[in-house]
Amino acid sequence: MDALDDLDLRVSGCRACPRLVDWREEVARTKRAAFADQTYWGRPVPGFGPSDARLLIIGLAPAAHGGNRTGRMFTGDRSGDVLYQALYDVGLASQPTSVARDDGLELYGVRITAPVHCAPPDNKPTPGEREACRPWLVQELRLLRPTVRAAVVLGAFGWQATLPALAEAGWRVPRPRPAFGHGVRVGIDRSDGGDGSDGGGGPDGLDLFGCFHVSQRNTFTGKLTPAMLREVLSTAAQAAGLGK
Ligand code: SF4
Repeated sequence: MDALDDLDLRVSGCRACPRLVDWREEVARTKRAAFADQTYWGRPVPGFGPSDARLLIIGLAPAAHGGNRTGRMFTGDRSGDVLYQALYDVGLASQPTSVARDDGLELYGVRITAPVHCAPPDNKPTPGEREACRPWLVQELRLLRPTVRAAVVLGAFGWQATLPALAEAGWRVPRPRPAFGHGVRVGIDRSDGGDGSDGGGGPDGLDLFGCFHVSQRNTFTGKLTPAMLREVLSTAAQAAGLGK
């Protein structure tokens, strides 16, 4: 087991946010009728993808009947259908669908995570819950630091969570903090290890990309089209030194 597997295991056992623990477990008990015969995950959903990922995708939080049911990020819900189709289209995933943890899906050089690992009521975590979960994102960023060279953040909530986490993990985040927007690209240098472990800058920097979230509200209304998503993902993949 590598350090990231160990982190994922520890995330999966976290009970730091009482409101979210109650909600995720209640949803897992009551279920949606269509999934009544399934055993819900009902726990924090860890990141998904290889430990040497060059590209990190950062969402918001798992969906009650998606990740909270299947135990894998963006798996088993409409947002994930859009995201994984786009990842497949640009050559970053082995298949266009993501329905269950054992469906054989592989990501190529990409890892997907979220700043809040538990499904929140109405898909809305509180700022306090985002703060409580930040240490997990910081640890994940530190472990990915040797390889990660680009990150795509889906939505303003994730953006607000990611900037301080990057700073804490050892990147030099510009001040004033860059604002979120679809298609925004920010080059971020590395400062030191964040934990004092190493120094440097420049070559180990990271390109940060903003992208509208793949929520149904955005995709059904055409605010985010598949072409827009593919464009951000393929540009970020190039920045990360991946793919086509
Ligand atoms: Fe723990 Fe994060 Fe879930 Fe809160 S949201 S219980 S900090 S994993």
